[in-house]
Amino acid sequence: RLITLEGGEGAGKSTLARALKERAEQLGLQVTLTREPGGSPKAEAIREVILSGAVKEHGPFVEALMFSAARIDHIDRLIRPALARGNWVLCDRFIDSTRAYQGALGRVDAALLAELEAVTIDGLLPDLTLILDLDPAIGLARAARRRAPDEAVDRFEGEALAFHRTLRQAYLDIAAAEPQRCVVLDGALPPAALAQAAWTAIRERLPA
Ligand code: C5P
Repeated sequence: RLITLEGGEGAGKSTLARALKERAEQLGLQVTLTREPGGSPKAEAIREVILSGAVKEHGPFVEALMFSAARIDHIDRLIRPALARGNWVLCDRFIDSTRAYQGALGRVDAALLAELEAVTIDGLLPDLTLILDLDPAIGLARAARRRAPDEAVDRFEGEALAFHRTLRQAYLDIAAAEPQRCVVLDGALPPAALAQAAWTAIRERLPA
């Protein structure tokens, strides 16, 4: 099973991912927890290059190419081998981040992005995508709180509130277009309640 977590900045994806991993392991499942951009050594190196803003001048299409290159390495090195061992893979961000950030926000042509996505994932669509929906004003305040005082604001967190509202809508549009794959969860829920809601969705959508 490949389960992906998506949502804006500070929506609670990584906290939820850790809680889900713990729960699944209590049931005796083997879980691989990973994230994008990154998740394998080469993909993490590409993550640093993109988030530093070094390729910003080339625009969102080049960013999409780099995220895709990172994703190919991550899929080949980590995700497919883990799935082949029978593990559950929980991935913090995946294809929908590219659709939302480089597509809806970056305005990269949707058909072009869809082709790039198809060659990148080569059939590996998530079995389930949990979309954490949250008012961006709350999410950005959370993201600012967790940042260390000397830590740089990354190139996407630093964008204006309007950007994050567009992002939120982009995720809701994805969920509406693919209801069989996506479940929207309320990111304003306290962590334990959110984990419970996510777990319920997993059991309903992915019966053992
Ligand atoms: O989830 P995390 O905060 O680690 O993501 C790192 C950054 O990369 C975020 O600011 C996110 O908005 C950005 N990102 C992006 N396009 C993607 C994936 C992530 O702009 N396809």
